[in-house]
Amino acid sequence: MNVKIPRGTQDILPEQVKLWQWIEAKVRHITKKYRYEEIRTPIFEHTEIFQRGVGDTTDIVQKEMYSFQDRGGRDLTLRPEGTASVVRSFVENKMFGHPNQPIKLYYMGPMFRYERPQSGRYRQFVQFGVEALGSADPAIDAEVIALALEIYQAVGLKNLNLVINSLGDIESRLKHREALINHFKPRIGEFCKDCQSRLEKNPLRILDCKVDREHELMKTAPSILDYLNEDSQEYFAKVRQYLDQLGVEYTVDPTLVRGLDYYNQTTFEIMSSAPGFGAITTLCGGGRYNGLVEEFGGPETPGIGFALSIERLIAAMEAEQVEVAFDDQLDFYIVALGDKAKDYSVKLLADLRNNGFSADRDYLDRKMKAQLKSANRLNAKYTIIIGEDELEKGEVQVKNMESGEQKEVKLAEFIDVVQQWSK
Ligand code: ATP
Ligand code: MG
Repeated sequence: MNVKIPRGTQDILPEQVKLWQWIEAKVRHITKKYRYEEIRTPIFEHTEIFQRGVGDTTDIVQKEMYSFQDRGGRDLTLRPEGTASVVRSFVENKMFGHPNQPIKLYYMGPMFRYERPQSGRYRQFVQFGVEALGSADPAIDAEVIALALEIYQAVGLKNLNLVINSLGDIESRLKHREALINHFKPRIGEFCKDCQSRLEKNPLRILDCKVDREHELMKTAPSILDYLNEDSQEYFAKVRQYLDQLGVEYTVDPTLVRGLDYYNQTTFEIMSSAPGFGAITTLCGGGRYNGLVEEFGGPETPGIGFALSIERLIAAMEAEQVEVAFDDQLDFYIVALGDKAKDYSVKLLADLRNNGFSADRDYLDRKMKAQLKSANRLNAKYTIIIGEDELEKGEVQVKNMESGEQKEVKLAEFIDVVQQWSK
């Protein structure tokens, strides 16, 4: 039996889960401020959803999907990303007809990609992402970017770089596409197999190739920014104007082409510039995908979104040595000595919990000193000490663990008294 965890996955143990929940709480708080609502779609979908929604020429579809046939012979895939599923659900549930337009959604959950595991790259990882569907206003592009940045700032990151680009509308993209083909075609033999097959299908993706990154033709490739038509130029200028208005700093990188085959107009990435952050510096990527909803059989609907992984966000927090103070105190720990006291503590524990306090006790029949040690380790605010004598007198000792002060409290009044303290 293989009792080891699968390659590229990780156990998140209780100590670490505290950090995860803290981050998740920040994410939910911020999405609420911007009125993005959570959507939960299945972990697997028909494989076609990703072939169409992510694109046949992407690394994800060509190399990274966990695809399988179920017992009924259906072709299914563990989701490698969130946008395709959200758009599928948007169309299937006719959200385009909902009165609250644009539809603003977010998701947070595990994604699966068969990649070579390394720092910041897992085979199962958790993505948080948002999708705004139904508006082609450049102000929503700026909103989505600002939301992503706010998440990183809220967890205490400072070394952030925002990079933006425009891929233009379909007309601009087609002109640029032609220029790219002309540029690469004469020497395409010098490029990898993937690039060769991308030349006719989607030459833009050659610019995103990780193998041929250093090839001299990459640096001299025609810039999309020189091919933007007037509408696309205006749109991009508006996005930048809104970012300026928000005081958001960015650099424009015309080589930034990303993920989905259907990206158009705005694309962006947020990178970590923290010294000590690994070779992979991209924390978050997103862009506009007008046309994707139609691809799934829905009405013409513009859309924009981004995705980030919590794993890389945590890696950036580690690189910047962000300290987080968790509220993980236990209200009460009961130290009970002797059988009668232990019997009594069963009821007292229940009373405390029923009154909204967090409480625990010794279950290992340990000596007083060891029980007190537990109270300390569990970060208890108060320790309740019950012995046979106290019980006879109808009272308990309560020790404030912070001040060290110890008091006797009548059992009959106990809950009333401690409720006063916690006010
Ligand atoms: P990369 O170029 O690093 O492979 P990508 O273009 O495949 O990234 P996207 O599909 O845009 O990434 O996903 C958005 C974000 O999800 C990334 O910026 C990154 O934070 C995170 N991410 C992607 N793949 C992984 C992975 N295998 N493990 C952890 N996080 C990941
Ligand atoms: Mg990737």
